[in-house]
Amino acid sequence: MSHNVSYDVSSIRKDFPILGQYVHNKPLVYLDNAATTQKPQQVIDRIHQIYTKENSNIHRGVHYLSNKLTEEYENARETVRSFINARHSHEVVFTNGTTHSINAVAYSFGEKYIAEGDEIIITELEHHANIVPWQVLAERKQARLKVVPINDQGEILLDAFQRMISPKTKIVAVSHISNSLGTINDVEKIIETAHQHNIPVLLDGAQSIQHQEVDVQQLDCDFYVFSGHKVYGPNGSGVLYGKEKWLEEMPPYQTGGEMIQKVTFAGTTYNELPFKFEAGTPNYVGAIGTAEALKYIREKGIRAIAGHEEDLLHYATAQMGEIPDITIYGTSNRKISVLSFLIKGIHHYDTGMVLDKMGIAVRTGHHCTEPLMNHFGIEGTVRASFAMYNTRDEIDRLRDALIKVKQMFS
Ligand code: PMP
Repeated sequence: MSHNVSYDVSSIRKDFPILGQYVHNKPLVYLDNAATTQKPQQVIDRIHQIYTKENSNIHRGVHYLSNKLTEEYENARETVRSFINARHSHEVVFTNGTTHSINAVAYSFGEKYIAEGDEIIITELEHHANIVPWQVLAERKQARLKVVPINDQGEILLDAFQRMISPKTKIVAVSHISNSLGTINDVEKIIETAHQHNIPVLLDGAQSIQHQEVDVQQLDCDFYVFSGHKVYGPNGSGVLYGKEKWLEEMPPYQTGGEMIQKVTFAGTTYNELPFKFEAGTPNYVGAIGTAEALKYIREKGIRAIAGHEEDLLHYATAQMGEIPDITIYGTSNRKISVLSFLIKGIHHYDTGMVLDKMGIAVRTGHHCTEPLMNHFGIEGTVRASFAMYNTRDEIDRLRDALIKVKQMFS
């Protein structure tokens, strides 16, 4: 039951067919939402409909199906534009996901703007997807990667960030919300500070788009990236938002069909935005499915969802107090939807295995944030992550199961 009266979580759950099943003879409790979210029937139906009635390659057909689906694909772009409040729909590029989007920016922005001796700033709590592409770029261009430290609550040290900026700094890349800790980073302050020095900022929105309102114009971020599958959409699709002024200047990251204007053996001219960055047949099913997921969220209301998830996190944090010897990682006041923890003396993997036997799906390990785990001097955590369809009853089941885990191993 939700404790937000206007939010009907039981009716929302009915929209997600996967949630109704049993795992190891127990009703499934799915708390691995930071890894991927489940899909509402509306999204599943939309994809089914494409393959049963609408499928055709887009953008180059003269025939009915191709034209119709091209229109749907461009409508999907407009849905994304309005969801994140981008100024122009051509600032929305469809990709395969967050990793793809960050690689595209690192390569393309790096090609144009990063030279030997330049500096790129990231933070200690980034996902590997927002570390490795910058590391590779730094190696390629003989540039320097600087890492802003965090405190033990899991918050980025803004003073250190400010001191790190130099005339050589060319870009800042930071996650909006940490996937391992749930910290909502003070990206407003980071963007404001970076912009005072005319430095663009990329926000990794893989964990924010599904949990809070995102307005890229208000944030004034230069790039914002996310994955469809983490926002109740299909796998293998994602978004790269970039301000027009950057995307216009940046060279294509991949080349081939669709992204060209004219090809001769003497040379090639590139297509206009956003097609310049969409080489080859795009994942149009993924893009349309993701747009359908965003419509679903819009129907339910992102603020109502955020309120519900905030309630879940507070409730879960309080319930964890009933389990002896538990340590929570990520204790910022600005936090959402993620509860990362360890029980003293019990390996995170063992905890996860036993929870699984009780029908509870959590993630264990370093969550693709090894440097962050190093900060805390641990190998990994158990991570329960909440979504719009989770309930307080499920958290009670998690608490009871953890008490059993504790008894089993002591
Ligand atoms: N950044 C963050 C903060 C993430 O949580 C994830 C997914 N765990 C990624 C990037 C990578 O997303 P994807 O695997 O969908 O490309």
